[in-house]
Amino acid sequence: PTTKDMATSPYYNQGITLSEASRAKLGLRGYLPSAVESLEKQKERALIMLRSKKTSLDKYIFLAHLRNTNTHLFYKLTCDELEEIAPLIYTPTVGEACLNYSNIYPFLAPPGSSDGLYLTLNDLPNIEEIIRNYRPITGQSGGFSPEIAVISDGSRILGLGDLGVNGMGIPIGKLQLYVAGAGIDPRKTLPILLDLGTNNKKYLEDPLYVGLKQTRPDEDTFYSAVDKVLAGLHTVYPDLLIQFEDWSSEHAFGLLNKYKNKILTFNDDIQGTGAVILSGLMNAIRKVESESKVAPKDHRIVFYGAGSAAVGVATQIQEYFQTEYNMTEDEAKKVFWLVDSKGMITQDRGDKLANHKVYYARDDNNGKQFKELTDIVDYVKPTVLIGLSSSTGAFNSKVLSRLAELNKQPIVFPLSNPASQAECTFEQAMESTNNSVVFASGTAFPPYTDPKTGEIHVPGQGNNMYIFPGLGLGAVLAHPKLISNSMIYSAAKALANSLTPEERGQGWLYPSLKRIRAVSADVAAAVCETACQENLARSQIITNLKTHDEIVKHVTANMWSPTQDTAADTRQDVYQE
Ligand code: NAP
Ligand code: MN
Repeated sequence: PTTKDMATSPYYNQGITLSEASRAKLGLRGYLPSAVESLEKQKERALIMLRSKKTSLDKYIFLAHLRNTNTHLFYKLTCDELEEIAPLIYTPTVGEACLNYSNIYPFLAPPGSSDGLYLTLNDLPNIEEIIRNYRPITGQSGGFSPEIAVISDGSRILGLGDLGVNGMGIPIGKLQLYVAGAGIDPRKTLPILLDLGTNNKKYLEDPLYVGLKQTRPDEDTFYSAVDKVLAGLHTVYPDLLIQFEDWSSEHAFGLLNKYKNKILTFNDDIQGTGAVILSGLMNAIRKVESESKVAPKDHRIVFYGAGSAAVGVATQIQEYFQTEYNMTEDEAKKVFWLVDSKGMITQDRGDKLANHKVYYARDDNNGKQFKELTDIVDYVKPTVLIGLSSSTGAFNSKVLSRLAELNKQPIVFPLSNPASQAECTFEQAMESTNNSVVFASGTAFPPYTDPKTGEIHVPGQGNNMYIFPGLGLGAVLAHPKLISNSMIYSAAKALANSLTPEERGQGWLYPSLKRIRAVSADVAAAVCETACQENLARSQIITNLKTHDEIVKHVTANMWSPTQDTAADTRQDVYQE
């Protein structure tokens, strides 16, 4: 870094950790009070400030401001206190932030900088120039060479619907989790919002809405716009991994199928969710096999909700049954019953099914159609119920207690986010099943204390954060041409196997978030190994590594950390021009 970087960039800003000598050298005498503090002490103060904020939205704004002024302190706080911070920078708070985005973001970025790259339909003729022109808020001099971009068109933000440009909070937040979770260098992240308008009437009429005030374009315009943006990104940054996030389901599948064999890309809502839920389910299946003697092949799985997440999860689970239990495609496919807003999905239901629903539509229902979940549960007798419907309270006590009658240990995953959309809470699931439920949710629920025994039960959280940061890091390091299904599958397996004996002993389905970096290293290593096995890895370093341990070591050594590039380790001589 140059002296100017040290004095002006949020990345190199060290606030009052700067020594007196450094202050003198950087021309910062008089700018700071006399105290010289450690990063640790600064973090303590930041935590006090954070906790003094009354609402989550205020906490979100405080953290965004911190991130945009002092990168290292923000990530020190985020990495050390991830369980407290993750729900503030991502779901559930990020949902609220997106709803309010037009009112908060304009005040957070310093002049001449931005939290992320905004592209609109009108930019397409000059797309390369605009992409080239963008510099991240970290503000270092020298070239910008992003490794991972997260791109959304704001059309389906969490379970909140079409938020248009207000969806920018999602790519921004997700990339912070890449940094915290897997040590992607914050200077190499690129959040992108492709503003194609919005069909949200409220925003179209809102004078304070900051996005394009027009409805979304037709399919041809849509696909050609995305084509141009991806081509522009590829020209300017040929090695960039592009992760799609929160696109409406039909488009999410359409784009994934169109690009997954052509460019380095994945969709976290489909593939990341698929992998993380498969992983929790692998552990749930192992648990009920050993405790209740349910043979894995005997599972019957109902998906409540049949959007991008549900179909992504079903696809991954199907691969598991085929790979690990030698089931044929047809046998494995029959494990699933999908339910959408019109009821159980069957081939003869009488409406035209969206493309992504056709594969799992049942043909063995003898003409019977079901609308109510209780009727579906009675008919299917599921061992597993997975909620991806954004439909609050759909797993009511009647549904849950019926599941507990049918199964010694019913597996129930109400995965809709944020918590206000969840199909049931952990407390409801425990109470209605007499504590027999094997549970994971999308947003973390608090532990449940049994009123009779005082025993505390900790629920699992199928947080995508267990997979995508490690998957991204693995892909950046192995540098494959594309991200294959096997890489995603091996990421899921690595996560399922990453629990310590203690975590398994507690009956957990997922490891502690406190160990996220170690978990991400396992996931990234698995991705690298699979990329090598498939001859897709183009990194000489990775292909030359012989053992699993060597790969884990290499992956870990390549994680950025919040104590890197700070005064603490560079104070001596870094300030030369
Ligand atoms: P989506 O594509 O919009 O799909 C929603 C699905 O739910 C659609 O199939 C919809 O039916 C169905 N649905 C809506 N209301 C329903 C009702 N009352 N009864 C039955 N089905 C109903 O959304 P998505 O991307 O799949 O995401 C769904 C939810 O999962 C979101 O809340 C999201 O936050 C959550 N999610 C969680 C995780 C995680 O925990 N790791 C990861 C990804 C997503 P139609 O098709 O008929 O409209
Ligand atoms: Mn998402």
